[in-house]
Amino acid sequence: MSSSQQHIAENSDGCELPETLRRYYLETMGIQVWDDVDASVATQVEVAAKPPVELEAWKTLQQTVTACTLCELHQSRTQTVFGVGDHQADLLVIGEAPGRDEDVQGEPFVGRAGQLLNAMLLAIGLQRETVYIANILKCRPPNNRDPEASEIDSCNHYLRQQIELIQPKAIFAVGRIAAQALLHSTATIGSMRGKQHSYEGVPLIASYHPAYLLRKPSEKRKAWQDLLLVKNLLEQCP
Ligand code: SF4
Repeated sequence: MSSSQQHIAENSDGCELPETLRRYYLETMGIQVWDDVDASVATQVEVAAKPPVELEAWKTLQQTVTACTLCELHQSRTQTVFGVGDHQADLLVIGEAPGRDEDVQGEPFVGRAGQLLNAMLLAIGLQRETVYIANILKCRPPNNRDPEASEIDSCNHYLRQQIELIQPKAIFAVGRIAAQALLHSTATIGSMRGKQHSYEGVPLIASYHPAYLLRKPSEKRKAWQDLLLVKNLLEQCP
């Protein structure tokens, strides 16, 4: 069984997750009831082992990013935020760019938005460490402004290499900036979410950014629908 197929009913020690805790994760997402979803399905999918991870390629790529000065963002960053997670993950989560907390800690999706993302993943049976999480940009834009097109162009090949190394079964793009950059679109996130797209042959689901969901909890139910699309994709892919 793939590591990312670990079911919500198990915690990191392999022990059963109490029903109350499972419901806590769902309630954190704003989902009160999840009785119509067979949560046991995720444990039943057997997947073929992926090729050995090219550790040297990962190491070289991370060193290159750490030293990168291709765009002006290198001048204001505390550190680069390369990405985190399982190099053989079935699911790749892609956000926009590091925020203040991420810039300080060097890890994507920390702080409240990160906690909500963790809860979202757990709600479909995935623990954070079993997916890979990265951003379009590896350095924080000053004052959390939107990334500029030139910055996305400069940084794009790093994410592309990460995708080639991971070879995920599905991509979950969170937020307008990530979805637009990956899909080469100017559409709104509201029009991109709720359906399956493709990034160079990899199925992609777009949804709202957790930071947006914190500001607008009423949209969590739509995000939940998008998560179910992700879950279905992972179950369907060989
Ligand atoms: S954002 Fe990307 S391209 Fe720009 S300096 Fe950072 S790593 Fe380099």
